[in-house]
Amino acid sequence: MDTERVKCLIIGSGPAGYTAAIYASRANLSPVLYEGLQPGGQLTTTTDVENFPGYPEGISGPQLMEDLRKQAERFGTDLRYGVATAADLSQKPYRVTIDDEKVIEADTIIIATGAAAKYLGLEDEKKYAGIGVSACATCDGFFYRKKVVAVVGGGDTACEEASYLAGLASKVYLIVRKPFLRASKIMQERVMGNEKIEVLFEHNAVGLYGEGGVEGVHLVKRMGQPDEERYDLPIDGFFLAIGHEPNSGIFKPYLDTDEVGYILTEPGTPRTKVPGVFAAGDVADPHYRQAITAAASGCKAAIEAERYLLNG
Ligand code: NDP
Repeated sequence: MDTERVKCLIIGSGPAGYTAAIYASRANLSPVLYEGLQPGGQLTTTTDVENFPGYPEGISGPQLMEDLRKQAERFGTDLRYGVATAADLSQKPYRVTIDDEKVIEADTIIIATGAAAKYLGLEDEKKYAGIGVSACATCDGFFYRKKVVAVVGGGDTACEEASYLAGLASKVYLIVRKPFLRASKIMQERVMGNEKIEVLFEHNAVGLYGEGGVEGVHLVKRMGQPDEERYDLPIDGFFLAIGHEPNSGIFKPYLDTDEVGYILTEPGTPRTKVPGVFAAGDVADPHYRQAITAAASGCKAAIEAERYLLNG
């Protein structure tokens, strides 16, 4: 197989990957960055980003990513299309296979492969993507001020998103498939004590409707039971909060991950347990998952890579 040796390999093209690339290029590490399945990452699926510092008027997600990409390119990052399909971190130089056809041997690797929000798998989620369907309340909640929204999920994320949205929207329905919440006690109490939030236990969302945007959700109560009920609920926004899946699969044999698959790093740093291999952004962050926190960890990873190459 075609093999190439690089000093610094960056995998992933979200805010973490591009920021790592900007710093690594400026430090003369000649980084090679593979953009992955979704160049630009999760932000390319959002509309306006209003919480990234430096843009008082906001900026569209795709534009922000294009700007970060250009900035990385300006300093000489070798940006390439391609997906990392296998990895061997058992010995130096580390080896990553791209598209099953080329091997990159790298002295340092920055894993910035991100995480993907889980969706229910409904056709309507695709149909209304960006026009009423979102998997990020912090990103999109602002557009639903004084409107009615629904959040799907019963874990901590769903409760947190519902509470956040309740500060903006006029009404929040929490659609929970079980007769109880899985979230921590404190989050449950916060949700149950909020008069703007109504929890719909034993409910499943099975479809959405609306002309040119979401106007409501098709619900099934006690699905599959003899007393099953089906009805429609008018809403303006539909938020998924049923978990995320970190894109860490090929690295799992070599790195420590939590039970969901998030890569574990030394607290406060992007260092993994393999020297010279760093994890930045959402693939190592179950907690914050923001563009700015991802960018910051990408910066840290590049600085770590530079120091590692200097000191061995
Ligand atoms: P969880 O896996 O904890 O919860 C997912 C929720 O989505 C569950 O209620 C689950 O239902 C529901 N769900 C999953 N699939 C479907 C489906 N197809 N249809 C309907 N409902 C579905 O994920 P979270 O993202 O909430 O949390 C991930 C981790 O991060 C947890 O460990 C959590 O504690 C932590 N976290 C902590 C926070 C904090 O401390 N502030 C904030 C956010 C997250 P069911 O219960 O039936 O399986």
